[in-house]
Amino acid sequence: MTFERAARVEIDLCAIEQNVRALKALTPSGTLFMAVVKAEGYGHGGVESANAALRAGADRLGVATVAEAIRLREAGITAPVQILSEPPADSAHTLIEHDLIPTVTTREFAAALGRAATVRGVEARYHLKIDTGMNRIGVRAEEAPGFVTEVAEFAGLYMEGVFTHFATADVVGDWDFESQFERFVEAVERIRSEGMDPGIVHACNSPATILHPKAHMDMVRCGIAIYGLHPSRATQGHIDLEPAMRVTASIVLLKRVGMGEGVSYGLTWRAAAPTTIATLPLGYADGVHRTLSGAMQVLVGGQRCQQVGRICMDQLMVEVPRTVDAADGDEAVIIGSQGEETVSMDELAELGGTINYEMACAFGMRLPRIYR
Ligand SMILES: *Cc1c(COP(=O)(O)O)cnc(C)c1O
Repeated sequence: MTFERAARVEIDLCAIEQNVRALKALTPSGTLFMAVVKAEGYGHGGVESANAALRAGADRLGVATVAEAIRLREAGITAPVQILSEPPADSAHTLIEHDLIPTVTTREFAAALGRAATVRGVEARYHLKIDTGMNRIGVRAEEAPGFVTEVAEFAGLYMEGVFTHFATADVVGDWDFESQFERFVEAVERIRSEGMDPGIVHACNSPATILHPKAHMDMVRCGIAIYGLHPSRATQGHIDLEPAMRVTASIVLLKRVGMGEGVSYGLTWRAAAPTTIATLPLGYADGVHRTLSGAMQVLVGGQRCQQVGRICMDQLMVEVPRTVDAADGDEAVIIGSQGEETVSMDELAELGGTINYEMACAFGMRLPRIYR
């Protein structure tokens, strides 16, 4: 007896492997590759995505939180794991215990990490984040060399790398990108001229890896592209990516609805003529944003069917035209292909007024994941 839900996310791990290989092929050999698997691998499963990326030659993993990093370790993953923002200072001992690489942006955290390392009689490695214009986290580029010299005085620390993050890497020929890159190169040069070793120097996310080879440096950090999704329109045509996620559901109920009858909360949609309505067992708590109500299409019997009425928390309804021969239990495709038709993550993101990154994460929140 299984209690599996009749809605699920299907993940093609071979696609993730293939995408990692395709991205690595863009960089010169010797360039390190970090697979970014934060937020449960953008909804694809953190541990499974990490293992697929490592099989395909990824050198390191990137996550956002200490908890995400610990889950990778508990799954037996021994590859270097970097936390891409500065963790809370009270996590210093935990970080060292699990051999995790934190990002440093403040003296306070660096001091706490150094103290914990000294108590344990080890050296803790970290990467320094340099803010070159995104104005999110990081030490300002002009203050970075001074910061590095100061923190170098703390016992128990070892700077393994320095990095920055681009705000506009997904645009071609962008002046802001150029100026961020210049600021970063300059900061790294100044760190060197102070006699310090910057270690692994890295800057590129997926769009920069695909569009800006000159910024590859010692390592690239790819997230969205390893899952087969393009970071923006600009990268399409530059690399072949294979989407790894499919979202499907089984039709739980098909029912005839008479002319003038309404469907779902508020009865905002009414049948203009007698028709067939299919209920699917997934809703906005599974990542199908409510803003998609009445706008999205679902594949049934290889054809596009209009979603009708408001999307509920756990269910949504679809009008099945006469031309589609559907039965209870049939597979409906929310993301992916069926027959000749495809609904892409990009299509749904655009309809929902967001980006494929957010859509993919949202589908990973509650739906069970099936791996192939
Ligand atoms: C999330 C993240 C990435 C990955 O970005 P993608 O656009 O998904 O490739 C890279 N670097 C940092 C610092 C990040 O936070």
